[in-house]
Amino acid sequence: MARDKTLIVGNWKLNLTVGESSLLVHELSKLVKNHRDVEVVLAPTSLALQTLSLQVNHRQFKLAAQNFYWRDHGPYTGEISAAQLRGIAQFALVGHSERRHIFNDSDKDIRAKVQAAIRNHIRPILCIGETASERANGETQDTLHDQLIGGLANVTSEELEHIIIAYEPVWAIGTGQNAHPHDVSQAIRSIRSQIKHLYGTKQAENMQVLYGGSVTADGASSYLALPDVDGLLVGGASLDAHAFSEIIKKAHKSAGASKV
Ligand code: PEP
Repeated sequence: MARDKTLIVGNWKLNLTVGESSLLVHELSKLVKNHRDVEVVLAPTSLALQTLSLQVNHRQFKLAAQNFYWRDHGPYTGEISAAQLRGIAQFALVGHSERRHIFNDSDKDIRAKVQAAIRNHIRPILCIGETASERANGETQDTLHDQLIGGLANVTSEELEHIIIAYEPVWAIGTGQNAHPHDVSQAIRSIRSQIKHLYGTKQAENMQVLYGGSVTADGASSYLALPDVDGLLVGGASLDAHAFSEIIKKAHKSAGASKV
């Protein structure tokens, strides 16, 4: 997938009822203009996905699942599969740090979820990032490398075109601690060089890589201006219609500026 659109993804996490989700989409639909150069993706609670898929203008908003089980069907009580999400969600988060650290999603689970998403025509957004202690120990590159290898094992070069990487330093998620744009740039360069090593130059250049971690309407532009950043994964600020629509506006402005 070419890097022709800036991707802005709102991760609502475990927030909002179905009714509240619907209301937020209604507010956003009034505030967000359709921009050819920006793709907006909303990741509500799984319960709201079907309702929202009937509600949204699909040119304005795409939908993402926050999580799913990697098997398509069977005796797995309480789970939702990518096969069931097919046609409802166009994207899915995989390997979000909250899944890795709170729910113990392993590299094996993450790899299987990437495969399940692709098999069901859902684009996985593979989240990777180092913890504060890995950063302090100078292990950022190794962590990114291990998580990339862990998530992408079995992925062919063709399949890679459907995958998006989100670089999310764990210490910056939900903490209000901002990663320095220079460090973000460096981490994403290291991700591209690892993709180059695994798949070649063209695949590395075409890879869509997002940044995520306490992004606000005020701070968004400093990341969007980085040539290596193809979009943002936004948690907290995506629950506020005004803040999120400001971030989308900034993405449009920044995409326009980079073409001048
Ligand atoms: C996230 O949920 O991926 C995230 C980056 O959250 P926040 O923006 O709240 O840090």
